[in-house]
Amino acid sequence: MSTTTAAYAAPAAKAPLERTTIERRAVGEHDVLIDIKYSGICHSDIHQAREGWGEAIFPMVPGHEIAGVVAEVGPGVTKYAVGDRVGVGCMVDSCRECDNCRAGLEQFCAKGMIPTYNGLDKNGEPTYGGYATGIVVDENYVVRVPDALPLDVAAPLLCAGITTYSPLRYWNAGPGKKVAVVGMGGLGHVAVKIAHALGAEVTVLSQSLRKKDDGLKLGADAYYATSDSQTFKELAGTFDVILSTVSAPLDFGAYLALLKTGGALVNVGAPEEPISLNLFSVIGGNKTLAGSMIGGIAETQEMLDFCAEHGLGAETELIGAEEINEAYERVLASDVRYRFVIDTATI
Ligand code: NAP
Ligand code: ZN
Ligand code: ZN
Repeated sequence: MSTTTAAYAAPAAKAPLERTTIERRAVGEHDVLIDIKYSGICHSDIHQAREGWGEAIFPMVPGHEIAGVVAEVGPGVTKYAVGDRVGVGCMVDSCRECDNCRAGLEQFCAKGMIPTYNGLDKNGEPTYGGYATGIVVDENYVVRVPDALPLDVAAPLLCAGITTYSPLRYWNAGPGKKVAVVGMGGLGHVAVKIAHALGAEVTVLSQSLRKKDDGLKLGADAYYATSDSQTFKELAGTFDVILSTVSAPLDFGAYLALLKTGGALVNVGAPEEPISLNLFSVIGGNKTLAGSMIGGIAETQEMLDFCAEHGLGAETELIGAEEINEAYERVLASDVRYRFVIDTATI
């Protein structure tokens, strides 16, 4: 039997989110029903709820930074038991058979991964995300939250954590490497913590110095304002890796100039507008302009275990569901310190 679940939804593009109810599918053979405790607000939720990336499915229940407790398991479930602390990120299923799925890159499933919300499930029904009190997910797309991580600070790791951990690992951020993080919002502040824990020398490139003290406390070795043109002169040719987490179009040419010869600018930000780039800024110095999208399920588990081992979670501002719309405005104004997390008991 499907269950009626309380949720917060955007009824139409750009409309304020409001309290509603949704139906969750009956718990199937390999499904777990998760009692959602906390749900992070990712900037991607706002891009999608406002159709900034294109046409979306409404009503939309956003939320792909989900942490909670298993409340029920299907008869075929082997990985989880009732009471386990678990998380769900940006996808809830994929074909499991294509090369990418087999390689642990389910986010690039050849048949299309099934997003946690704003997508269609295998049964053809729309998926609804984590701004809700419960969710039913196949156990293979659920990860375990280690005991050392409180659920509220773990929730944002399900997207912000994996999205920054995966490229930092791939591009070898570690001892002896100079890494810059552009934008100290939800993704950026977690990136600072992870890059520091990986042993890299970390610099934050933020629009202003307003958050400098916080950045240094989170593990940055240096902090610069990109509104100051002197920053670009002083840091020319400095970094091995630059990770951009910026949600708006940036002058990538200016940032590529901050790389050493052979360095890489890795972009995870997903602005709604295209950028233009003079390609001389990559051919000069054999530079790489790369991208990265979340991470696979096994790597998401690896990231959570890494964060637990290093005592590392998100810096959160816990809010009630009625504050979601206000939180969206604050994220858009770069006024987030550093991830809004919804206490789903208020839904
Ligand atoms: P966020 O909390 O809003 O952080 C973005 C930060 O970028 C802001 O805090 C701000 O940092 C900086 N910024 C914003 N507007 C700017 C501008 N006009 N110029 C320069 N800097 C600006 O957002 P988020 O949740 O971290 O997400 C960041 C982006 O990543 C979004 O586009 C999101 O959709 C995308 N994303 C991608 C993936 C992926 O898989 N690739 C996964 C999750 C999210 P300062 O105040 O420090 O300047
Ligand atoms: Zn996200
Ligand atoms: Zn696949």
